[in-house]
Amino acid sequence: QQQDDYAVMEQVARFFQHQLRQNGNSKKAIDYLKNRGLSGDIVKQWEIGYAPDSWDALLNTFGKDPQRIKQLVDLKLVNKNDQGRTYDFFRDRIMFPIRDKRGRVVGFGGRVLDDGGPKYLNSPETRIFHKGSELFGFYSARQKNRSLDTVVIVEGYMDVVALSQFDINIATAALGTATTPEHIQMLVRATSHIVCCYDGDRAGREAAWRALENALPALKDGVRISFLFLPDGEDPDTMVRQVGKDAFMDMLNDAMPLSRFFFENLLKTHNVGTPEGKIALKKAAMPLIESTLGDDQKQMLLEELAKHTGE
Ligand code: ATP
Ligand code: MN
Ligand code: MN
Ligand code: MN
Repeated sequence: QQQDDYAVMEQVARFFQHQLRQNGNSKKAIDYLKNRGLSGDIVKQWEIGYAPDSWDALLNTFGKDPQRIKQLVDLKLVNKNDQGRTYDFFRDRIMFPIRDKRGRVVGFGGRVLDDGGPKYLNSPETRIFHKGSELFGFYSARQKNRSLDTVVIVEGYMDVVALSQFDINIATAALGTATTPEHIQMLVRATSHIVCCYDGDRAGREAAWRALENALPALKDGVRISFLFLPDGEDPDTMVRQVGKDAFMDMLNDAMPLSRFFFENLLKTHNVGTPEGKIALKKAAMPLIESTLGDDQKQMLLEELAKHTGE
C-alpha cells in the first residue's frame, strides 16, 4: 500500500527538523539560525529543519523499496540522473516546509548556510506543489488570526519568519519574487487590505509594479491594496529588526495606496507637460484601468487620470 503524498511530505518535514538537532552538522546549522537572530522558539514554530550534507540521507531513510523511491522522485525530494542513479535533492541546507492553505506540507524551500549558490532552492513543481498558487505562511497567518484585516506580501521565507518573531503574524511570501493573479485571488478572499512589501531594491520595486498589474483584475470593491517601499538595501527582515514592531506596523499603516503608486510610477515615464505626453499617459493607463474589477476603483482611477490629462 502506497503512502499518501502528503503523509510522506509531513514525515520528511519531521526528518529535517530532527536533523537540525541530531545531525553531525547541527552546530553549524543552529549557529547559522542564531546568527540570523532567530530564537529557538521561532525555529520550532516554523518547523525549520536541516537537510544533511549527504547524497542519500533522505533516500536511505524513506526509500525502502522501488515504489517508494519512485514516489520520492515524483515529489522531487530525490533526483534521478540520466544513468538512473538517485540522490537527495536538498543537501546541506536550512529547510522551510511550505504548507498549503489547508495546512498540508506540499514543498520545501532550502537555504545555503554560506555564500554558495543558488542561495535558495525551492521544490520544483510536482503533482501536489504549484508555486503560482502557494503562499508561504498563509496557513499559519490564518491559524493565528481570527480575522485577517490586513495581509502583508513579502519576498522571502526569512521575512515571514522574522516578522512573526516580532509578533507580526500577518505576513506571507510568494515563492520567488512574482506575485501571481492566483495569489491575489487567494488573498482577496481572506482579507480586505493587502500590503505589498518587497525588498528595497530595483527588483523589489519592479515586483511591486507587476503585483499591481496582477492585482487590478482581482481587486473587487471593498478590498484595497497598498505598497510599502523600504529603504534601498533593506528587506522586511532587516527592517523590523532595526525599527521594532510598532514602528513597522506604522509603516504598514502608512503604505502607499494603489492610486498613488499607479500614477507616480506612470508619471515617471510620461511628461504630462506636453500634449503628446498626456496622450501617451492615457494610452498606458487605460488598459490597466479597464482591467480593474471593482467599479468604484475604476471610477476613482479614471477621475485621477482626468486630473493629470486635464480633461
Ligand atoms: P536571506 O535573507 O536569507 O538572504 P531573502 O529572502 O532576503 O533571503 P532575497 O535574495 O531577497 O532573499 O530573495 C527573496 C526570495 O526569492 C527568497 O526568499 C527565495 O524565495 C527567492 N529566491 C532568492 N534567490 C533564489 C534562487 N537563487 N533561486 C530560487 N529562489 C530564490
Ligand atoms: Mn531581494
Ligand atoms: Mn533577507
Ligand atoms: Mn530579501
